[in-house]
Amino acid sequence: MTASVGTMEMPRAGERAETTVKPVGAGLAGRVKPLIRGLSDMVALADRERKRTEVYAPFNRECIGAVPSCEAADVRVAVDRARAAQKAWAARPLRERTRVFMRYHDLVLDRLDSILDMLQVEGGKSRRHALEETLDVAINARYYAAHAAELLQPKRRQSLIPFILKAWEYHHPVGVVGIISPWNYPFTMAVSDAIPALIAGNAVVLKPADLTPFSALYGVRLLYEAGLPGDLLQVITGRGSVLGTPLIEQVDFIGFTGSTEVGRKIGEQAGRRLIKTSLELGGKNPMLVLDDADLERAVFVATQGSFAGAGQLCISYERMYVQSGIYDRFLEAFVARTKAQRLGSALDFSVDIGSLIGASQLEKTVEHVDDAQSKGAQVLAGGRSRPDIGPYFFEPTILTGVTEGMQCYREETFGPVVSIYKVDSVEEAITRANDSEFGLNAAVMCRDERKAVDVASRVRCGTVSVNETYQAPWSAMGAPMGGMKDSGLGRRHGIEGLLKYTESQNVSLSRISPLFPAPGLSVEASAAAYVAMLRLVKKIPGLR
Ligand code: NAD
Repeated sequence: MTASVGTMEMPRAGERAETTVKPVGAGLAGRVKPLIRGLSDMVALADRERKRTEVYAPFNRECIGAVPSCEAADVRVAVDRARAAQKAWAARPLRERTRVFMRYHDLVLDRLDSILDMLQVEGGKSRRHALEETLDVAINARYYAAHAAELLQPKRRQSLIPFILKAWEYHHPVGVVGIISPWNYPFTMAVSDAIPALIAGNAVVLKPADLTPFSALYGVRLLYEAGLPGDLLQVITGRGSVLGTPLIEQVDFIGFTGSTEVGRKIGEQAGRRLIKTSLELGGKNPMLVLDDADLERAVFVATQGSFAGAGQLCISYERMYVQSGIYDRFLEAFVARTKAQRLGSALDFSVDIGSLIGASQLEKTVEHVDDAQSKGAQVLAGGRSRPDIGPYFFEPTILTGVTEGMQCYREETFGPVVSIYKVDSVEEAITRANDSEFGLNAAVMCRDERKAVDVASRVRCGTVSVNETYQAPWSAMGAPMGGMKDSGLGRRHGIEGLLKYTESQNVSLSRISPLFPAPGLSVEASAAAYVAMLRLVKKIPGLR
């Protein structure tokens, strides 16, 4: 797929950006047509005559298909169907439920090429970044299918008086889970959050991002192919501002991934209904490069970690605090590596960085770079949009001299733009990394692992990787992942990523009655007996 769209302009020798170009392919719609067929029929509708919204390939603005623009009545249909299907699903033995997801794991790997085509064409990203998110879905399915029994089974818990009192912890599905997902990682953000919700015995109503509905629908179709019972996962397509409120008003849990601005609204609405919620929101992620960092590794991590998904990854780095002892060497090598990144739209692994999703993301990126430059920042690499490659391409960009008052100093750009700051000490690096309203993800580069882990634990971010990109914490499926501060509430992955979709229940049984006053004792004697018992229990390690 290397035919060009428009005129190909290679950068002239001596120009600032030497970023290697791979031209856009034409006929992208044809490539995904067989995959898209029938997907829009899966959308829950109260009225088959709904208006339709077209979906465009960011690589070349080709229309690849259309999905219904759902309305509030369709949300009602979706929730009703999901609620009806949920009861029978929750009643099935857990082993039967998890089997579906082990099959799904295999199916995702079997259909890898189709999924990667779909993610590239609809989302505009490079194949390597599409691969990351696809593998994440498979890992997620396998992890929760393998661990659900141990996490969900009722557990004996400590009670006040051994042998006389017994307590168990149960986890019941909440019922119908609503999921609202973004466009940037449209397969994993839609499906990976639905997987633990379904395994826990819930039904799901999914509202994928308007720009990328087919990636989510394709993932849902594969779930049904893996054996998910009909109606259990409903999809509604259309605008969040239309569908968000009716969805929140009817579901028992709302899981949202997207911007902090919308996340706050969702949190307020969920709060009024007192339903559980998880909010995975924006970031302005720092990377700390300490003096004793392995230079080559730091440069690799900086490049991979900043420009993944063309910088439209919530956990990619936009701020770098580099200690003075390594600053010059790091900067020189990072600039060289960034300029060597290959931009393009080939549907294979030959390019490093793909396109931005669309016009508004490109506008914001251009605005941030222009604003910084006009206020005195220097562009050391990139800095330009590349209409010669495709309508929304932007070069990976490195800025220095960024100061408070420039838009990109604190605001999330969500594009391939990173600012580098020289710091004199480790303490300064930590302080400046923490000087943000966000707290999503960070990286620490330092050869001394003990020191690195200590520094990592002092950075106020939900995940921190040491000497590796975000891929390390992202793939650590047994550990929780999510944001501190304005980056969100709640966690995905690990125990929390499953149990958040349940109501925990304490069932306690007593073999004597009444507990107080104790049988045969006066109130005074019972009080004395309990006080004595508490003193005794404190001394016995097994009973504390
Ligand atoms: P967005 O908030 O504009 O949209 C996200 C989803 O919310 C979409 O499905 C959209 O249709 C829907 N939506 C929009 N307005 C709504 C409303 N009023 N009520 C209900 N739903 C509404 O975000 P986006 O532009 O799609 O995604 C980019 C943002 O997402 C970035 O800030 C990024 O950091 C964040 N993000 C965070 C994570 C994470 O795990 N923390 C992951 C991916 C993206």
